[in-house]
Amino acid sequence: MQNIHTYNFQDKRALIRVDFNVPINKETLEITDDTRIRAAAPTIKMILEKGGSVVLMSHMGRPKNGPEDRFSLKNIITHLSKVIGVDVKFGGDCIGKDALAMSENLQPGEVMLLENLRFYKQETAGTEEFAKQLAKHGDVYVNDAFGTAHRAHASTTVVAKFFPNDKLFGLLIEGEIKSVDKVLNSTEKPLTAIVGGAKVSSKITIIERLLSTVDNLIVGGGMAYTFVKAQGGKVGNSLVEDDFLDVATKILREAKEKGVNLYIPVDSVIADAFSNEANIEEVSISEIPDGWMGLDAGTQTKKDCSEIIRNSKVILWNGPMGVFEMENFQSGTKTVAEAIVEATSNGAFSLIGGGDSVAAINKFNLADKVSYVSTGGGAMLEYLEGKELPGIAAIKG
Ligand code: AMP
Repeated sequence: MQNIHTYNFQDKRALIRVDFNVPINKETLEITDDTRIRAAAPTIKMILEKGGSVVLMSHMGRPKNGPEDRFSLKNIITHLSKVIGVDVKFGGDCIGKDALAMSENLQPGEVMLLENLRFYKQETAGTEEFAKQLAKHGDVYVNDAFGTAHRAHASTTVVAKFFPNDKLFGLLIEGEIKSVDKVLNSTEKPLTAIVGGAKVSSKITIIERLLSTVDNLIVGGGMAYTFVKAQGGKVGNSLVEDDFLDVATKILREAKEKGVNLYIPVDSVIADAFSNEANIEEVSISEIPDGWMGLDAGTQTKKDCSEIIRNSKVILWNGPMGVFEMENFQSGTKTVAEAIVEATSNGAFSLIGGGDSVAAINKFNLADKVSYVSTGGGAMLEYLEGKELPGIAAIKG
């Protein structure tokens, strides 16, 4: 398999699938968060430095029926040019004669951006003929869009077949794969996973997968109450998935059989409404009165979790410990984030993977104090579940 570090890009056009699906202000059409653009810059710059030219392709938003101005990638050209330090040309379309003429005339050091791929339904349908048209823009295909690697779309997967010997991962995807593999194949111990968030149902596959690799598994957030109820506890009006009580019991049993320390919170900050202004108490997690719901981890739980995390060598965090979006229920999530930062500063490897824990670590301004923060929400979850992502398989295959 080729890789970006050894590939000879001199005088080659690199067709790079990036993820420029950035949030845009509907009225001013300005970018409100450019994280994804900045994340793609190292790959682009590296290829330019190695004497190549670059053709960028991406989707943005969910256009329904063909081109829509607010989803046009021309809206990001000025900012993109600033971030990478090169004036980016705009293709006007992603396929067709004019766009192709522009990419064929690119000189080493030049960059162009194709128009939103999802202006064509063939992109998400993964149509081969459409992928073939896209492939004409490059001599080498680089996939650097981890966020869409779990989709078998034309630009993320199908296009790779037109570059049998010239396809590789960009630096961003390479970093994501390396960090997940480091956690899942780790020989360093103890390995601790913290899985929180709202529902057992959405995390069940990842929990089952982790049971065969981790030493400690901390279950937190709304998910914990299904486990507490399954053990006979009183959870009041807390979030519970009654359909998953049996599953929770099975997980508790499996953890015991596999010698995994499955930690279920022991106390809880409860509220009499799902609101930051609600009345608050702290109680044992299995004695929550009717009319009250658990919205955050209690004092003892925070202490226990911190200790487990601080003593870990490898840490994976997916999902918050409470309703961290509300000031009064963010303490458990913040404590976990801080313990992960402390463990990291003492030499542990920490991966924050999956939507809401990424939002949480950013909210607490601690993202640069952990080892790796994943950019791909759904893709990261599927990769952690052990699924083969089509975009990754297409490069490896
Ligand atoms: P997920 O996307 O499954 O990781 O869930 C994240 C969401 O779970 C966040 O929006 C949290 O506010 C929410 N959450 C965490 N703890 C609780 C809880 N105890 N009750 C209700 N929702 C919660």
